[in-house]
Amino acid sequence: MGREVVLYLTLLSLLGHPFVSTAPIQNRLQSVLVPTFGKFWHISDLHLDPTYHITDDHTKVCFSSKGYPASDPGLFGDFMCDSPYKLIQSAFQFMRELEPLPDFIIWTGDSPPHVPAEKLSTDLVIHIITNMTYTIREFFPDLPVYPALGNHDYWPQDQFPIATNEIYLAVAKLWEPWLKSEALTTLRKGGYYSQVIGPSLRLVSLNTNLYYSPNKVTVNMTDPAGQFEWLVDTLENCRQSDEKAYVIAHVPIGYLPYATGTTAIREAHNERLVEIFRIYSDVVAGHFYGHTHRDSIMVLLDHTGQPVNSLFVTPAITPIKHVEEPYSNNPGLRMYLYDPQDYSLLDIWQYYMNLTEANMEEKPGWKLEYKMTEDFNIKDIQPQSLYELAVSFGIPQSKTFHKYFTHFMVSYNETIVCEGSCQMTQVCSVLFLDHKSYFNCIEKWIESMKTLF
Ligand SMILES: [Zn+2]
Ligand SMILES: [Zn+2]
Repeated sequence: MGREVVLYLTLLSLLGHPFVSTAPIQNRLQSVLVPTFGKFWHISDLHLDPTYHITDDHTKVCFSSKGYPASDPGLFGDFMCDSPYKLIQSAFQFMRELEPLPDFIIWTGDSPPHVPAEKLSTDLVIHIITNMTYTIREFFPDLPVYPALGNHDYWPQDQFPIATNEIYLAVAKLWEPWLKSEALTTLRKGGYYSQVIGPSLRLVSLNTNLYYSPNKVTVNMTDPAGQFEWLVDTLENCRQSDEKAYVIAHVPIGYLPYATGTTAIREAHNERLVEIFRIYSDVVAGHFYGHTHRDSIMVLLDHTGQPVNSLFVTPAITPIKHVEEPYSNNPGLRMYLYDPQDYSLLDIWQYYMNLTEANMEEKPGWKLEYKMTEDFNIKDIQPQSLYELAVSFGIPQSKTFHKYFTHFMVSYNETIVCEGSCQMTQVCSVLFLDHKSYFNCIEKWIESMKTLF
């Protein structure tokens, strides 16, 4: 048996039930006579660096490069730096030109730059979040925007408290034009909220920074800020009132696609969240996260291995990478298309800026990177479709997986290949979100590799 087939079958056996391949189905959007679908923008990880400026000494271009030289600094930024204001403005300018009136915008946090704690303060963090809030409102004055807090939206970063504080109060004041009083009340107390945003649609904005591993305040707490209890109550109420929910948060659940065996949030909290989302998978119509700065998907499987929820991690506006990282991401932002009848998700239209080109031409040049259904030949982005796509990622030298990995880096460099343990980590993270099933995937993958050589 060929190596490809063995690995592929290993992945299939992990999924617990036979994989039925479906012939490409005509794009659902094209088959509808009148295209009636809703749209919303998703932006994340703006990470404004106000110190960014072009200078001959490349170590002095931005504080966020932490003394390392910028690689090729230009008008719209550099891969060693966080976003210059011009990059952020160009993103909103592009969004407004392309679709000035979507139904709403979701914004999953991280406004301040990656700089040491002593370079920032509570006042500075509030100042930067204020700047970003006003910038969004200047471009979209009449549009509702639903934010979630990111781990950098606090000072010192990551250390989110479980009770009211200066920052929760400040953002509740800033976001008052977008949120109702019930949402503002929980935002002030714990940094999370929910709000009805359409007929039978509720947006749930979680503060997953409370579960983020570097948060020392919440170590050993079973339910920081009572968010789990609140989430279960909120989703239960949705079910009782026939509402669907879109869940947004900064730090995603599940395992990191680039670090084997590592959850983004603490493992115990991850287990709890995954279980809650399994119980309420009929209520949740989509999950939207940020934080990793890369473009990835996850499919939540129930205990019998059936795909029940689609999860999306949107890439960042900031192009920054750590000096030791082999690749980065181009600035990216996206639009989701959904069915207004039941809020099921239909497509992602992913846009990006080729930073090198933009700097060379001194023009932002935002453009379409891909349309998910067209690029992967799937009918929609609902759990079953994503699941079948994800299974096909397990084939070594899979062209589909290579495309997915190029998207992962927002087309930073399509000659970079992800195979072996890189591919294993990616694929296991897409399909297995809890400890047991994830490590089962890793073990089986390693075993099948051993039998091949
Ligand atoms: Zn970030
Ligand atoms: Zn983050």
